[in-house]
Amino acid sequence: MLPQAELHVHLEGTAPPALIARIAKRNRIELPPGMLAPDGRFHFRDFLHFLNTYDLAASVIRTSEDYRNITYEYLSNVAREGGVYVELTASPDHAALVGLDDDAHYGGIAQGIDDARRDHGIESRILVSAVRNFGPEQALRVARRAAQRPHPYIVGFSLAGDERVAPAQFAPAYEVAAAAGLGCTIHAGEWQGPSAIREALKLPVTRLDHGARASEDPTLLHELAARGMTLNVCPTSNVVLGVYRSLSEHPLPHLHGSGVRVTLGSDDPPYFGASLAGEYALCAEHFGWSEQQLREVTAAAIDAAFCDEPLKAALRERLRAH
Ligand SMILES: [Zn+2]
Repeated sequence: MLPQAELHVHLEGTAPPALIARIAKRNRIELPPGMLAPDGRFHFRDFLHFLNTYDLAASVIRTSEDYRNITYEYLSNVAREGGVYVELTASPDHAALVGLDDDAHYGGIAQGIDDARRDHGIESRILVSAVRNFGPEQALRVARRAAQRPHPYIVGFSLAGDERVAPAQFAPAYEVAAAAGLGCTIHAGEWQGPSAIREALKLPVTRLDHGARASEDPTLLHELAARGMTLNVCPTSNVVLGVYRSLSEHPLPHLHGSGVRVTLGSDDPPYFGASLAGEYALCAEHFGWSEQQLREVTAAAIDAAFCDEPLKAALRERLRAH
């Protein structure tokens, strides 16, 4: 198993229905109606419905221990399939909706990270994400709290949610995050095309989550390559949600072939039937990528990671030694 690293996965979105059901039972709450399809999988028709189902599942996650368990189970699964590093996107807005403060939220996640490291040798850090559709003022509040480093595992700031809310409005939040030394990334180029990506590039970001639709604009691709931007691409997520009709239409090989740095992410794995190792396998099977090319994907993820240099050096050594 080639060592893998993942920079694009949403923590609440890693919990499969069975884990959500266990947590709901422990918290003595009913599963939200409409969350599951008759076959027991998460139920959603399109992206906005997916965001709604995600919020329903997140609403049963109530305690620090819940966050610890979700983190531990996800990282353990990734480690068993060869994963060595994950940057988990955490959403303090979702935690606040159930009354969890930052200490309980990040404390639970950090405990999961520590336990997974002890048991499985995998490393992980936290990206703090604001939710676009909660608006720029709320994003600024999230960025300000993240900038105060409520936990030392917090290494970056991100923006997720409904991509139709334009990036420019979030410039103040990004300025605060960047000034505090947090790495910055943003969801862009999933549902919106090249012009929205260009707008996102005005923010102090070094990575884009998705970014796939940059493939529609050769000049933009050239700029992304020249700037050394890293695109955290999620092919399975894109196909399941209908950004592309099939893998054969997915532009990942085109992005990679244009010299743009790419990494692989599972985004919200049980929702899409995805996994980090699965995304690597898919690139080998559908795009014919060699082991050397997949190694370069992991190397790109380590280069673009927001963790400190000593950890990066240790991760590079694990990759080299494999
Ligand atoms: Zn995402």
